[in-house]
Amino acid sequence: MLTLENISAHYTTRRGVVQAVDNVSLTVRENEILGIAGESGCGKSTLLKVLYGYVARPLSVVAGTLRAEVPNGNGSRRILGLKEMPKVWWQFISYIPQASQSVLNPVITIESQFFDAITRFHQTGSRAQTRRQVADYLRQLELPVDVLNAYPHQLSGGMRQRVLVALATFLHPRIILADEPTTALDVVVQRGILRMLTRVQREMGNSLVVVSHDLGVHYQITHRLAIMYAGKIVEIGPTEKVFARPLHPYTAALIKSLPRIGDQSQREGIAGAPPSLLNPPKGCRFAARCSQVMAHCREIEPPLVEIEPDHFAACHLHDAGVAGKAGVA
Ligand code: SF4
Repeated sequence: MLTLENISAHYTTRRGVVQAVDNVSLTVRENEILGIAGESGCGKSTLLKVLYGYVARPLSVVAGTLRAEVPNGNGSRRILGLKEMPKVWWQFISYIPQASQSVLNPVITIESQFFDAITRFHQTGSRAQTRRQVADYLRQLELPVDVLNAYPHQLSGGMRQRVLVALATFLHPRIILADEPTTALDVVVQRGILRMLTRVQREMGNSLVVVSHDLGVHYQITHRLAIMYAGKIVEIGPTEKVFARPLHPYTAALIKSLPRIGDQSQREGIAGAPPSLLNPPKGCRFAARCSQVMAHCREIEPPLVEIEPDHFAACHLHDAGVAGKAGVA
């Protein structure tokens, strides 16, 4: 439905070129919840921007292609590239950004935010008609209709985030991208937002891509999980397989560091820090922190290879006897 092939996306800064996403290939499949996890600065939010086709200075896509298969409504599909994505924002693909407070316009009501957003990209009926449709949709999502009369600052953080989810999904897009949708919310509110997102995905039968540094979020809701490290996808596969049998030492270390209910033992972090993306090292980018590093890891970059059905990893530990194939995961 949406495929990236060999995408590299860089930020041009005063300090140099930050290689935020490097040679990443990825497919968003129909009717799936795909998670993207990794530490801050690993490139996951940049990857989401590229999927959305929101590429503006200082970000630029320097290599690779995006291919979106957009339904025409008569059973046929048209193929769009990266630059054409803004034409299908809201209807085919929508984006739930992080930090609802800074995204919503503070000086207009929620009703006006809906009206502005929807009419900016797509023709609708009168304002009264739109208000009725939005009110019906809010009721469907079990949100109070009187939020339409409120200004963003009058709502709690959780309610603002729910409003963003409603806004982004009102036109029933085929793909919803959510960037850290539960960051800075308490656990109970987080659970409510995740429930809302998964319900919308299930009822619309669309695809949801969730970026979060929180592996607990991915464990709860995603079908497939991609792990990013220093601008690259180092592992991707069905979520239960990734958690049960991580194939990359970085994924294994992330999972090992998770707290577990009832376990009083000290959790181990991952020593060291990711490399600078201004000048990433050659070979495997995790080599400086990897407990299983081998001499050739620092010289030869491991490709992302299918190690078991639908489960890919980029690590030389799997070189021997791998019958897998590189490709778009
Ligand atoms: Fe560790 Fe080598 Fe695998 Fe990189 S390629 S994760 S350094 S074993």
